Order: sequence, then structure tokens, then C-alpha cells
Amino acid sequence: MKPTDLLAMAADARHNAHAPYSEYQVGAALLAEDGSVTIGCNVENASYGLTICAERVAIGSAVAAGKTKFTAIAIVADGGPAPFPCGACRQVLSEFCAPELPVYIAGAGFTGAHETTTLGALLPHAFSL
Ligand code: ZN
Repeated sequence: MKPTDLLAMAADARHNAHAPYSEYQVGAALLAEDGSVTIGCNVENASYGLTICAERVAIGSAVAAGKTKFTAIAIVADGGPAPFPCGACRQVLSEFCAPELPVYIAGAGFTGAHETTTLGALLPHAFSL
């Protein structure tokens, strides 16, 4: 799957974000080893600390569907800063993904332009047991 296809799916998913507090809508699309894609969006809560990021929603949904091996993730936000994953999401991704996992990032909506990095670049020395 091309990065732009995965980014487009993340861009669609962001429209479902529940973000009445930050108004920062984020979508994620997680590509599994079997070629399937699981989407996620941020889900905010009036008790702010309970908010779940788009990446962790996607991972939780994928794991619930029996998928635990992933080969790429795309993350798209409507505006504001480019939606690099927060520290918590980087650590959760590291539970299921290799450091070489491509991470595609697009801010201000998705118009085709994006940045590419890897999970290992975002989270060197991830915690593991
Ligand atoms: Zn996060």
C-alpha cells in the first residue's frame, strides 16, 4: 500500500474524532502485516486525562480484531502542529512494531505532502521487558 493511500485513510478517520475540547482532530491508519488497515481517531473526554489518542485507538481496535503485527502507520491532523505521536503512543506502538516501522505524518489536513520517519527515530531505547 502506498503511503498516500494510508494517509488518505487517516485523513478520513480524523473526521470522526471526538475533539470538542482541543478542536484538534487526528486520524490514524494502521497497516497490518496481512494487508488490512485499522483506523483510529482521538477520543477526548471532559476529564482531560482520559483522552485517548488516534494511534492508541487504532492499535486497540486492531488488537481486538486479532492483529498484532504492523508494517506502517499514517497520522493526519486537521491543523496545528504536525501530529507526531505523543510519548505514550510511541511506547504503545513499540509493543507491537519494529523500530523500522514507517510513520507517515501530515498536518493541516492531507493534501499529499507528508513527512516520513520511523518508530525507532521517534522512540530510541523504548522500554521493554
Ligand atoms: Zn498519543
